[in-house]
Amino acid sequence: MTDADPHYTPPTPPQAPARRAIRELPDNLISQIAAGEVVERPASVVRELVDNALDAGSQNVTLRLLAGGVRRISVEDDGQGIERDELPLAFKRHATSKIGSLSDLETVRTMGFRGEALAAIHSIADCSILSRASGQPQAFLLEGLSGEIRPVARNQGTTVEVNELFFSTPARRKFLKTDATEMAHCLEAVRRHALARPDVGFSVWHDGKLLEQWRRSDDLDQRLHDVLGADFLRNSVAVFYQGPSGVVVRGRVGIPDAARSRNDQQFAYVNGRYVRDKIITHAARSAFDDVLHGQRQPVYALYLDVDPARVDVNVHPTKIEVRFRDSREVHQAVRHAVENALALPRAGNTDAGPNGTGPTEHAISATPVLPIGSAAPQTMAPPAFLYATQERMRFAHQGDARPGNRISDLGALWTTTEATQSRDAVQAPAVAAHDWPLGRALAQLQGVYILAENAQGLVVVDMHAAHERIVYERLKNQLIASDGSTAKLGRQDLLIPVTFAAGPEEVATCEAHQSTLETLGLEIVPFSPTTLAVRAVPASLAEGDVINLARSVLGELAQHDASSVIQRAQHEILASMACHGAVRANRRLTVDEMNALLRQMEVTERSDQCNHGRPTWRQVSMRELDALFLRGR
Ligand code: ADP
Ligand code: MG
Repeated sequence: MTDADPHYTPPTPPQAPARRAIRELPDNLISQIAAGEVVERPASVVRELVDNALDAGSQNVTLRLLAGGVRRISVEDDGQGIERDELPLAFKRHATSKIGSLSDLETVRTMGFRGEALAAIHSIADCSILSRASGQPQAFLLEGLSGEIRPVARNQGTTVEVNELFFSTPARRKFLKTDATEMAHCLEAVRRHALARPDVGFSVWHDGKLLEQWRRSDDLDQRLHDVLGADFLRNSVAVFYQGPSGVVVRGRVGIPDAARSRNDQQFAYVNGRYVRDKIITHAARSAFDDVLHGQRQPVYALYLDVDPARVDVNVHPTKIEVRFRDSREVHQAVRHAVENALALPRAGNTDAGPNGTGPTEHAISATPVLPIGSAAPQTMAPPAFLYATQERMRFAHQGDARPGNRISDLGALWTTTEATQSRDAVQAPAVAAHDWPLGRALAQLQGVYILAENAQGLVVVDMHAAHERIVYERLKNQLIASDGSTAKLGRQDLLIPVTFAAGPEEVATCEAHQSTLETLGLEIVPFSPTTLAVRAVPASLAEGDVINLARSVLGELAQHDASSVIQRAQHEILASMACHGAVRANRRLTVDEMNALLRQMEVTERSDQCNHGRPTWRQVSMRELDALFLRGR
């Protein structure tokens, strides 16, 4: 958010169009509009009225509800207002000031355009509109039931009041839930708007009590903090991506650790409009494939800018669904955007660690205020420490398959990973020791954790989880060639083959998957009907537990068909290989070994989470330590 994300800008809000008169749409255009019932419950009314307030260029919107919105919904704004003579048109079907022609419809930037909402609401509730148009000396009130218009006092802007929803259709009223539930839906509707428009202030009153108040600000992070809470901000990273297709994706995405069992914190916007879109949801979830398992749901607020001509918003009555001209380009952009954001090791950031111990409150107030719509840089710059080490990493990978190129002075641990790289990193640090993002190793705790000191305070690393991740990423890099095709893992022949007793399924799998095993750097052959022999293992796992490695790979393969196993089950296979290659808990490490592990984490993509999505390290700040000891109070 702050210095760590200089490239970040809030999403560009749709600009309020110059005020146009309300007109009835021509018949041929009406027939092209996806008409439908828009009012289901109070929250639908809230959504439509707030849409209108935002379309009118308002800076502040106040919502007042009685009894969950069933008794009354009133939305008050300070937008451009409605001229007296146009008031009666507002309640007419297909009367709108927002589009006038088919070409307008194709490039629509406003929330509304069908001229249906007020008419629909008017038909099922007792409505009134009170409005003073910009530049007019007088406000007017239109009573919906009587049609009477009379002058009243009001500042510029509009208040639409909706009383006794479904009063004339008691059958539908019966379908409403309790006031509390309806209220929750109303609040959710406002949250969706509020997250799209940090530049607009929102207040929500219920039964005379102020429920929420979100002040206007040019800073999206501030709004995310206010609406979704400090935890969301703390446990998320900034997203900025501009795809080759011109699709821009911004926002924030939660780290895997912040994932939830429900998908209730997934907010996606297309050109400022909240959408529920399968393509976006799928793309965002698939960016987590590597780091999030099972049914866990990531959290995010993603804002897509798509050329309006390439997205059709006119497919659903409530416009919550859209249709992309090229859904693949949108999928790719979202997936890449989220992947890139997650891959950047956060160890280099100066703000929060993965569990958010950073100075969030302070960071928010210190965030530089960027003008809405200011140009964002085209690419995301990696933290400086990455530049120095990426070259070395490339070297290290090349050296990987070279036999007999091991340096043993860091102990057996590094023969299972990459001695060259770790040694290099320790001996030729790119930055002064105290500047290492994950700090200088101090000690090992109970054989499980590494304790290190960095500029912010204490770093605690789960040694097995971190190492497993490093091994996994390395295997993946070796396996997937730069052109995306599958390469072979470098293998190392064993001097003496290792045999183990195998069940019939293991023997069968071994025979059926010979070429896959070869790709994985493994040579396993039947030795007898009940025995398998391992003749070679991946070079980078040579020191690992050979039998368990062989068994778990066969176990993974048994669950899949022979063809293209690697493409589909890559994650599972590599994860179980990494698990056997990674340093076990309870193994004593020297300080050099610990430092080498920290340096490897710093240059490894996605090293902040283990293969199961759990964090691999935590930052405990000096402030938190001080608080433990009641210092400075
Ligand atoms: P739509 O938003 O699709 O145009 P609506 O039925 O929601 O249709 O609104 C009809 C018209 O009433 C709008 O086009 C707009 O001109 C006017 N209107 C409604 N609400 C407001 C408001 N809060 N401020 C200014 N004009 C409004
Ligand atoms: Mg509308």
